[in-house]
Amino acid sequence: MHEMSLATEVLAIIEDAARQQSFTRVKTIWLEIGQFSCVEIEALRFCFDSITQHSHSLAHGAQLEIIRLPGDGWCHNCQNKVSLTTVYDACPRCGSYGVAVTGGDSLRIKELEVE
Ligand SMILES: [Zn+2]
Repeated sequence: MHEMSLATEVLAIIEDAARQQSFTRVKTIWLEIGQFSCVEIEALRFCFDSITQHSHSLAHGAQLEIIRLPGDGWCHNCQNKVSLTTVYDACPRCGSYGVAVTGGDSLRIKELEVE
């Protein structure tokens, strides 16, 4: 499952950070997920909970906060960088449909609340 490998990846990043910054517990994880990434948020939550359910896991009981980022586009008509909700959006500035999708499929940890 795609979400399971993402959840494992997120946990690995947190474990690395814990070693470097010597914290032992994560309380909240803010995850930024691009509008166009094919991530099922509920499935990701489920997978993350299932791999951190052991009480010795440093992310046991941690809260996963999801921040959806709008997609990025470039309008060829008015030469502006624009935010997109869907890949078919017209340019919010000039209404042109000549918008190329340039980003929005990223997933990264924005912040960790640790103790
Ligand atoms: Zn435009």
